Amino acid sequence: MLEAKEFDLTTTLVKEMMIDAEKVAHVQNKNPLEHALLVLTKTGYNAVPVLDFHGKFEGIISKSNILEAMFGVEKIEVEKLEENTVGDCMDHEVPTLLVHDTMEQALHELIDYNFVCVVDEDQQMQGIVTRRQLLKQYRNEFYRSQNKA
Ligand code: AMP
Repeated sequence: MLEAKEFDLTTTLVKEMMIDAEKVAHVQNKNPLEHALLVLTKTGYNAVPVLDFHGKFEGIISKSNILEAMFGVEKIEVEKLEENTVGDCMDHEVPTLLVHDTMEQALHELIDYNFVCVVDEDQQMQGIVTRRQLLKQYRNEFYRSQNKA
């Protein structure tokens, strides 16, 4: 019987473990915040990637970015959802990975972020890698080694 290949962080490439871009929910930087809130609520995700009109990765928008943007001086101002765009409130300073990076590089980023966007040399989004996928891989590896012992 063929044995499952051992998982090796140093040789497994990000592209082998990523969720492809076509399956990744995203918003555009010019979208009103209202749209981003709708996407986040409907998908159940806390944050999604932000792309420009040409599919270039710009950053990430989260539910907490939106809540923060809605706080006026004294109260929550719902009209800010229409007035502000995703680009006004998103996080621009987030790490990215390249498709040919190894999962070892991804591991370092996934300590601080529960997902990281994967881009090509032109910053076009190719997909995402998530902490959950990595943990699942380690769970499988753990039980595989237990069964071998
Ligand atoms: P998970 O590891 O599946 O819990 O996902 C962690 C985070 O990654 C989610 O809260 C989202 O912010 C992001 N994420 C996971 N899958 C997707 C997807 N298909 N589209 C957009 N964002 C995603």
